[in-house]
Amino acid sequence: MEQDLQARALGLYIHIPWCLTRCPYCNFYALPYSKAAFEDYYALILMHKALVLPMLDQPLTSVYFGGGTPSLLSSEMITEIIEDLPLADDAEITLEVNPIQITSPWVAKLHKSPINRLSLGIQSMFDDELIYLGRKHHAKEIPEKLRILIDSGFENISGDLIYGLPHSSVDTLKKNLDKFLSLPLTHLSCYLLELDQEGKLAADRKLLPEDEKLEAQYKLIRHTLNDAGYRQYEISNFALPGRESRHNLLYWKGDDFLALGASASGYFRGIRYQNPPDLSAYRLQVNSGKALGDEDPAQNEESDYIMMRLRLTAGLNLREFRARFGKDFFANREDHLRRMMQLGFLLKEGDILRLSSKALFISNAVIGEIL
Ligand code: SF4
Repeated sequence: MEQDLQARALGLYIHIPWCLTRCPYCNFYALPYSKAAFEDYYALILMHKALVLPMLDQPLTSVYFGGGTPSLLSSEMITEIIEDLPLADDAEITLEVNPIQITSPWVAKLHKSPINRLSLGIQSMFDDELIYLGRKHHAKEIPEKLRILIDSGFENISGDLIYGLPHSSVDTLKKNLDKFLSLPLTHLSCYLLELDQEGKLAADRKLLPEDEKLEAQYKLIRHTLNDAGYRQYEISNFALPGRESRHNLLYWKGDDFLALGASASGYFRGIRYQNPPDLSAYRLQVNSGKALGDEDPAQNEESDYIMMRLRLTAGLNLREFRARFGKDFFANREDHLRRMMQLGFLLKEGDILRLSSKALFISNAVIGEIL
């Protein structure tokens, strides 16, 4: 087998599953905040880190605090988690932030920690949508909160946007996007609202725009952000040049990442695993000295790699695939892939195979066909 064309990067994800309130559309593992339980969990994270530290045999290119609401961690806690990690000189260290927490004193403290990238759960610049989503901040506060962040030296800031809400349209989304574009964001993640059949908003599923209308909203996002200089580099992600999320790129490129925290998933040396999505079981894992959670029984490194790489607009590099798996991806599926190309879902340019713009909105179905 040829050698990997490039060494794999290594990152660390830290999951903080606590939230001040539960958003009605949320289907993540999230727990109601209580100070005592939160501090207890923090102690577990430090113990878990001690188990993972000996495995960090190369510098971390990224550390990502996700949730839940990881901005519930104090600046001192964040610093303590990061302080003895082996970091690359230019490591990206991201914190997801609930906008409601952003005040000048809070930001001044946060600035003393090693965090150098923020991801803000803005979700919408319309209050009626924020209320629907159960978010507690107000749209008109967002520009001021960003000013506080920028003034204190944070300049790499991503914003989340949720589209496809009941009663939304291309027109309402256009106004929302214009407001987002007036903000000093370096990166935007745009997610389609999905309402779980079992969730609190299940009855509203019938109010969601039809697929065609959702596709028109997705196209609007792509074109509007592209025209404003945000390059789409993944199905839901857009960045100013050089501001792509280095941590999320680890996932999509099939690089390694270790995971601290209940329910957090990791991928290390070909093994995909998940820490238990349950506090007692997670405590048991850490107390028994296990750094990695349970292996995913459905894992298949090759399929995972194909699925993740095709999410990137840069696509799947057939030479890199051959170097990693010792086989020819295109030759092995040539008839099938050529049919997908004739249907206009797939493009091949030299060694690069990628989804066409027509396939991006229905990427799951298209990638499922390819696999
Ligand atoms: S803040 Fe995020 S994780 Fe917490 S309930 Fe809301 S959507 Fe879920």
